[in-house]
Amino acid sequence: MFWFRCIFLVSYRFKMELLLDEIKLFTTDEKIISLVIEKLRECGCCKRCILRFICIKDAQTYRVVDDQRIETLLGLDSDVSARARTASSEELISNGSQNGLLANAGAEPDDGVTQSKELGVCTACLGVLQEQYCKQSFLEEIRDMVTKEDFQFSVFFCSLSLPVSLLLREHSLWIILNDLQPSVFTEDYRNNIIPVKDVWKWVNGSSLANILNVPFDQKSSFAISLTFVHTNTEKECSFLYDLKPDIFRKRKNNRHGWDVFNQTNVLKAIQNATIKKFRQFYNCPPKKLLYPCDCDPIKCHQEALFIAGRYNKYSRHLSQTPWFVDGAKKFETSVEELICTPMMQLVKASDKKFSASGREDVDVRMLGTGRPFVVELINPRRVSFTVQQLLTLQMAINDSSPDVQVRDIQVVAKEETSILKEGEEEKIKRYRALCWTKDDVDVERIDALAKQGSVTIHQKTPIRVLHRRTLAVRDRVIHSLSAKKIDDHHFNLFLSTQAGTYVKEFVHGDFGRTVPNLGTVLGTDCDILELDVEAVELDWPKALQPDDSKEAVDP
Ligand code: ZN
Repeated sequence: MFWFRCIFLVSYRFKMELLLDEIKLFTTDEKIISLVIEKLRECGCCKRCILRFICIKDAQTYRVVDDQRIETLLGLDSDVSARARTASSEELISNGSQNGLLANAGAEPDDGVTQSKELGVCTACLGVLQEQYCKQSFLEEIRDMVTKEDFQFSVFFCSLSLPVSLLLREHSLWIILNDLQPSVFTEDYRNNIIPVKDVWKWVNGSSLANILNVPFDQKSSFAISLTFVHTNTEKECSFLYDLKPDIFRKRKNNRHGWDVFNQTNVLKAIQNATIKKFRQFYNCPPKKLLYPCDCDPIKCHQEALFIAGRYNKYSRHLSQTPWFVDGAKKFETSVEELICTPMMQLVKASDKKFSASGREDVDVRMLGTGRPFVVELINPRRVSFTVQQLLTLQMAINDSSPDVQVRDIQVVAKEETSILKEGEEEKIKRYRALCWTKDDVDVERIDALAKQGSVTIHQKTPIRVLHRRTLAVRDRVIHSLSAKKIDDHHFNLFLSTQAGTYVKEFVHGDFGRTVPNLGTVLGTDCDILELDVEAVELDWPKALQPDDSKEAVDP
């Protein structure tokens, strides 16, 4: 028995030394450390918050399940508690290291006395680091809610949102410590207090990982958000209106007035107020509260997924995106809806954003290898797909309507998607326009124009788009053009243009707003009957299937 006790004490002392190595971050003075522990305990801090305030960075120390072990580590066994009740801080300073942490380090910890030393809600964390939110059943509740949300994930991390009043409380407790020993508990020290969020993750991260059966990873794209709130927060922060009227303005009749307090501005207010001023408005130490924080229903968040492809549009009665006139939908569906509906069913996202490399008018077909597009799927439940699943999605889209056909459906990285908007002006688009002329057509005039090489045209914003585009004159380049006569009054015009060229206006002139235009070149009234986009020359996303554009074109 004697030897057993000796071994126990040696290993216990070893643990204490490790702990002290950690503590040395802000002081090596054991007397001060024990004083701090006593003081924080007196102020109503929980065990983990005490460890935070003595800057312990060892996650395992916070995790210790056995309450008594933490208490013994902190010198909070029954002897110390009794002393804390009788000795004032001043006495502790004068008595020095005979009390507290180290004095107890040598004491036999296993004296069989187990009693709850945490009475009530912690003044520093308002319960976030206490039993209620660190126990197995709470973590199981999280698991149940995550399971219900039906997200696919292979790693996870937790993001915590805490009541801003915790900032005030931490500051208030720091002031108390600063009173004890200003030279030790400096502003620098304050920056080393371990954040509540970190500790919660240290304590619960690995247990939650076990329960969820996937690893915890800070870099995970899947997050479980825990939002802790406290009913007293607004009231507790309201003094800030008077402390820092330059930062906080009272919002009259604003039922969301409390939103005005956030981490950034509360921290700014604290940092800009002197200790003296802060004390005039806020209790040091902070008031004890009867009730802990509540935890809002948890939310899961998965980073957006991007699915790209190219689409053909074979209808002259279909808009690219839903078109509303006076709140009513003008067409039953759109390219966007035909593509996104099956995609949303597969990915189970909360929302989506469709973008494409330019757009065609309702009455313009999109032929050739199609127009590149990407769909940003926000908060997707499903994130990994086999080649077969993506092919099935492609078939589902293609089966839903003959008007829209897609190809090269693939998951792409977010960084790649900027290519759609980058260099928008430089992209080249090829068109076929069926044109009509009032007088007999003389295509040689067009050939003569084509021989000049590229032609720059000046386009004043077309009348038809004036409602959504600012009035300006834009220069656009027609890289090449050629004409093929059909009969005396009809011909096909083939053009290759800079992106953003208004082809219809180039043909009919838009009442002289586009110069030169085909009418002026041919010397007769000219109009456009049909327009097809034959190619959007952007080599993205990568081609997955053999080019079947020739079959797709339906002249
Ligand atoms: Zn606490």
